[in-house]
Amino acid sequence: MNGNAISIWIAELGIWPLVVVLVPNLMFRKYGQSAGKKRMASLLQAIAVFVITTAAAFVVERELTDIYLFGAVAVVAVVLFLYRGKVFPYRLTCAECETKLDFRTIYFMDDNLCVDCRRKKDVAEEEESASVEEIESQDGPEDISEEEKDDK
Ligand SMILES: [Zn+2]
Repeated sequence: MNGNAISIWIAELGIWPLVVVLVPNLMFRKYGQSAGKKRMASLLQAIAVFVITTAAAFVVERELTDIYLFGAVAVVAVVLFLYRGKVFPYRLTCAECETKLDFRTIYFMDDNLCVDCRRKKDVAEEEESASVEEIESQDGPEDISEEEKDDK
């Protein structure tokens, strides 16, 4: 490979690859905290795309060969591999029951749970917080009785 046909092709795409990766990122807003990790993942992917498109533009501008582009892609690939847990936190199946997940969960939700398992988890968490409140309300009278003991 001596030419820079691939670099020219990528460079001519301009900012479109970046736009394509960043637009879904705006949709994370409505998922808030429950999509924090995946929002970060899609940002990291956008950075990877940005580095590659910038490398392509650099190759075209300096009239280098595609080998430099491949070098940049290789570096990005190694970095993505090292941080694959952060960059690709996706699962196609539910983390609890292995049911196939829908696209919305795969792309946005950090918990990687199917609808049923998430509902079960929410119920369990509600019960947990309810029981914590019970314990806290039980603490009140105990404190008083201990103080009474001290008085005697
Ligand atoms: Zn499940």
